[in-house]
Amino acid sequence: MIQLYIPLNFLGVIYREIKQSLADMERLFSLLEQNREIADAADARPLLTHGAQVRFQHVDFSYESKRKILFDVDFTIAAGTTTAVVGHSGSGKSTLSRLLFRFYEVNGGGITIDGQDLRSLTQDSLRQAIGIVPQDTVLFNDSIEYNIAYGLPGASKEQIVAAAKAASIHDFIESLPDGYASMVGERGLKLSGGEKQRVAIARTLLKNPAILIFDEATSALDSKAEQAIQAQLKEIARSRTTLVIAHRLSTVADAEQILVLDHGRIVERGNHQALLALDGLYAQMWLRQQARADEEGGSVPDAFSL
Ligand code: ADP
Ligand code: MG
Repeated sequence: MIQLYIPLNFLGVIYREIKQSLADMERLFSLLEQNREIADAADARPLLTHGAQVRFQHVDFSYESKRKILFDVDFTIAAGTTTAVVGHSGSGKSTLSRLLFRFYEVNGGGITIDGQDLRSLTQDSLRQAIGIVPQDTVLFNDSIEYNIAYGLPGASKEQIVAAAKAASIHDFIESLPDGYASMVGERGLKLSGGEKQRVAIARTLLKNPAILIFDEATSALDSKAEQAIQAQLKEIARSRTTLVIAHRLSTVADAEQILVLDHGRIVERGNHQALLALDGLYAQMWLRQQARADEEGGSVPDAFSL
């Protein structure tokens, strides 16, 4: 039994290793999968940005032919400004960011960046120009240095440290026994939600993209960590073209433009003041959510929902 036990235990370790690398592979394949049908045009050119104005022009979209998800979605994000999208779950908010990243092709209309249609661009150059700070950052089973450097392949140690400092995670990293070489992810140190967010911010700072997409988390962090991260995100977004899937009152109120999405259609648009003055759906949402946020301390639970 003992002779058997040891190899089995050993196999268990290997099994976990394989399972873990399968999880990594799955992530890779799910990215590739989303990309599968989209190939660069024969004459695709690299994106050239000068300010990065983003335009959705009469965009229609469906994942499956039976069910349309976006209907005639038409808006412009002026270069260097922030547009927040609000609406209930399933209204199509995250779909907008997937289309901007060209994980999927639009079925009608088009999307341009500084006048260049996404379909005319190389996907490499497009993805290099867009930074995404996701709701839930997945760390690779590798060093924390690798996890930050992922934002800019070939980054120097100085650049990595500068990004970590700007994201307020440098001191934390230095306090770890192995510093920047510390292993993180499922097999290494488990970082808190706030620490993972900061790694994601450092990654994005290193990438230095012209366009940012934030899919705001609905909750997770305590309000002090939350405020610190919000302030940092605001700093990164300054002078970049930003699309934020917004759940927070502060983000929504600060945005130059707010789009209210309902069942795949933009039903109201404007800045916070204009939308309040309109006294429609947004105004109702705002009043209701603010009352709730006063009770619960700033973040909007369960999305900025209608
Ligand atoms: P939101 O971010 O506003 O919650 P999404 O953009 O994620 O909404 O989704 C909009 C609609 O598209 C939802 O009805 C959702 O079920 C559907 N949807 C999202 N992803 C897919 C997919 N990969 N295949 C089919 N339908 C999808
Ligand atoms: Mg979403």
